[in-house]
Amino acid sequence: MITIGCHLSSSGGYAQMARDAIAIGANTFQFFTRNPRGGAAKPIDPADIAAFHELAAEGGIERILCHASYTLNPASDDPAVRDFALAALRDDLQRMEYTPGQLYNMHPGMHKKQGVERGIELTAACINAALEPQQSTTLLLETLAGKGSEIGTNFLELAAIISRIELQDRVGVCLDSCHVWDAGYDIANELDRMLEDFDRCIGLSRLRAIHLNDSMNPCGSHKDRHARLGEGCIGLDALIRITQHPALRDLPFYLETPNKTLDGFAQEIALIRKEHP
Ligand code: FE
Ligand code: FE
Ligand code: ZN
Repeated sequence: MITIGCHLSSSGGYAQMARDAIAIGANTFQFFTRNPRGGAAKPIDPADIAAFHELAAEGGIERILCHASYTLNPASDDPAVRDFALAALRDDLQRMEYTPGQLYNMHPGMHKKQGVERGIELTAACINAALEPQQSTTLLLETLAGKGSEIGTNFLELAAIISRIELQDRVGVCLDSCHVWDAGYDIANELDRMLEDFDRCIGLSRLRAIHLNDSMNPCGSHKDRHARLGEGCIGLDALIRITQHPALRDLPFYLETPNKTLDGFAQEIALIRKEHP
């Protein structure tokens, strides 16, 4: 069975996310630990975690993905911004131990005017300072679309960060279909070529999750505007092929599509499930 879900609001707690996921036909979900724009996270409620584990076991939810605040910038040229990113990352990874063995996704950051090499070094240093050997979470770096000075727009940049990580078995990659398309990988016509490139640069065994989004803009636009499945430039057939590809179909898939209600996500999940009998 395909593992598919969407981004859910964490404001109601872990158990509520499990209920929401089950209600829309999802068997996984993504969430922010804190307000996506940064700030303090709500304290963990052990009763909520216990209820979550029970619901997850009943609903077949084995995998969850936590997304770091997207404003964190471990590659900033400002030491105060870097310190804030490290503190948030450490705190998030400690909280992740309430749900052991799960996935944590972060954006590799913006290098600003320092250049990509320096950005890569700073991001790797932040991850090395945050990851603890006794922790059980796998940290994923997300492929980015190439807005501004984003790092991780091509696979070599992600490989360069990963090669600098001390705890090699704790890092992987989350591939965002909208982002790689916007970055210039034509996944509608040349999916295999992109996967070969990924394998050559990073190694396919590092690929641990997929953000399944259509894109409002053409390939190579560097815009990062998500569209609902089939309502963008990648198209539904190409997105279905991604979920069915032998190298990808066993990974967890997460919709980050513009839906105002959970019903919208339920429709998209049903659309993909129909292709995975
Ligand atoms: Fe993201
Ligand atoms: Fe994403
Ligand atoms: Zn995006």
